[in-house]
Amino acid sequence: MADADLTQARVLLVIGGGIAAFRSLDLIRLLRARGANVQVVLTRAAEQFVTPLSVAALSVNPVRQDLFSLGDEAEMGHIELSRSADLIVVAPATADFLAKMAHGHADDLASTTLLATDKPVLVAPAMNVRMWTHAATQRNVAQLKTDGVAFVGPDDGEMACGEFGPGRMSKPDAIAQAVAAMLRPDAPLAGRHVLITAGPTHEPIDPVRFIGNRSSGRQGYAIARAARAAGARVTLVTGPTALLRPQGVEFVTVETAREMLAAVEAALPADVFVAAAAVADWRVETPEGQKLKKTAQGPPALKLLENPDILATVAKKAMGRPQVVVGFAAETGHVVEYGRKKLASKNCDLIVANDVGEDARVFGGDENEVVLIADGEVTPWPRMSKDEVARKLVRLLVERLS
Ligand code: C5P
Repeated sequence: MADADLTQARVLLVIGGGIAAFRSLDLIRLLRARGANVQVVLTRAAEQFVTPLSVAALSVNPVRQDLFSLGDEAEMGHIELSRSADLIVVAPATADFLAKMAHGHADDLASTTLLATDKPVLVAPAMNVRMWTHAATQRNVAQLKTDGVAFVGPDDGEMACGEFGPGRMSKPDAIAQAVAAMLRPDAPLAGRHVLITAGPTHEPIDPVRFIGNRSSGRQGYAIARAARAAGARVTLVTGPTALLRPQGVEFVTVETAREMLAAVEAALPADVFVAAAAVADWRVETPEGQKLKKTAQGPPALKLLENPDILATVAKKAMGRPQVVVGFAAETGHVVEYGRKKLASKNCDLIVANDVGEDARVFGGDENEVVLIADGEVTPWPRMSKDEVARKLVRLLVERLS
């Protein structure tokens, strides 16, 4: 269930005619990866941006384009098309298409299908910022919301036309997550965004050498899988590891602490932030462009600078701080004492502390033995698999969010 939470879900995707239409191909892929059956209706304008052939290949279903197509009607008419879906997604929804929907037009297959449906409808608008903020569009959006249509986005940012502001289509992953939240409203983390860091960071000394650590990333990846299984939208920002990318997770690979911080900032806002990465505390001030050579003068002196503290940066945000922030404290002795200090100094809600001394067999292993530290409470958990630690932690997150 973890990676295929939309198994047996039938999603009808209406692709509108906007520059964002090419990102809907990724949405088809993501929905299918989660187990959904995806039928696609292309508007005539959408054909200018994506080809029916690529849509058919990705959705593994015939593409519907015509209202009055003998072939299509014989196979599955527009009424049947809307009835046979569990949910209809319109992505991208252009200003024109929103206007059509708001006024109940039915002059092509896409609009007719939407007028004929009694299923939940999710809309991902995408348009120029002025079109989005125009009173007419806002009136249409308000009407559609009153009619029970759900919206995801639009996001803020730079548009294809070079302007800034709201109007960008939400990321395909966020749309897929909104679909899952509508189809699985009972999943405990449905509609929540969980952001996780994992693995080590590598801080270059020269092109071939780096400062790193023994973190395998296993615990962070396990938390990503557990959060996904609980219905969350998950972003996993990971340093170099040998692990497989978990399915259904937004996956960002980085090398250095500064790259990790930038990726985390870009992935915010989130409801939960779990900092499971073993971030290098220091980096070399100026890594050499060429491989350092052994010389008669002896080994080079490396000047180290302190890396940004990603956990503290996120946990101390005055605006947009995630509701729950979880830190890790890997220590070799005095685990509870140091963990408590970290909870306070980094402004976390929860610290997962563990002993990573040589005898603990934690780094790279499948098991972990942790102590939970929160609000003055210290709770030791027995030794268990990293997957079990992850599931138990996710249950705690669900409690804290509710
Ligand atoms: O200070 P220390 O490295 O022991 O803190 C561990 C916790 O802080 C972990 O949750 C780790 O992911 C996070 N951290 C961070 N950025 C750093 C150092 C640590 O996010 N530069």
